[in-house]
Amino acid sequence: MRFFKDFINIFYPNLCVNCQKHLYQSEKVLCSNCVNEVPITDLKDIENNFITNIFYGKSTIEKGFCFLFYQKNNITQKLIHNLKYKNREDIGVFLANWMWFYLKKHQNFSGFDLVIPVPLHKSKFKLRGYNQLTSFGETLSKKLNVAFLKNSLVRVSKSETQTFKSRFDRFHNSDTKFKVKDVSALEGKHVLLIDDVVTTGATLQVCCNELQKVKNIKISILTMAYTKKT
Ligand SMILES: [Zn+2]
Repeated sequence: MRFFKDFINIFYPNLCVNCQKHLYQSEKVLCSNCVNEVPITDLKDIENNFITNIFYGKSTIEKGFCFLFYQKNNITQKLIHNLKYKNREDIGVFLANWMWFYLKKHQNFSGFDLVIPVPLHKSKFKLRGYNQLTSFGETLSKKLNVAFLKNSLVRVSKSETQTFKSRFDRFHNSDTKFKVKDVSALEGKHVLLIDDVVTTGATLQVCCNELQKVKNIKISILTMAYTKKT
């Protein structure tokens, strides 16, 4: 048992991701002091807010939700950095469970048939061995009692030519293309598309454009965080 616990600690050390303090057994990822410092959006309106506004006039989005505010060097940035680059997939589970506490208050945050993640570049997947949205998406879809389809939307090109593109092209993500792999599985469905941090919303926009080619599809968006302008 001792060996098992030590073994686990190698992967998930019991230190607060933000202040590095040792965690009590009841604490996960963050110590209780740092939990209180996390900038939670606590969105009241899920049909008309800063997330849905990003897509206004571009895509028809049913509902939008975002859990945290993201800024350089804030706690959110540390959480997402550890989730993405430090093999801390447990942070995805932690964020989904915590977010659910706020989300379940919204009675109209329902009606979804599927949860779909924004797909990762194949090269990034190879490098990291995981998509940072998987543990988050799986936990969330269990709470919503719907399926998590991690491969129904795929990337079809790599941005290796990015350095040769103009700034304008890069902003518009013109080299990033997505493709719906299993169209029939999405027809007539209300899809909840998830991502980690939304800034300009360009990537999500490209995903939405592709998804909207599917017959009678409805799209809602949920992100872990939103980049707050300073
Ligand atoms: Zn702490």
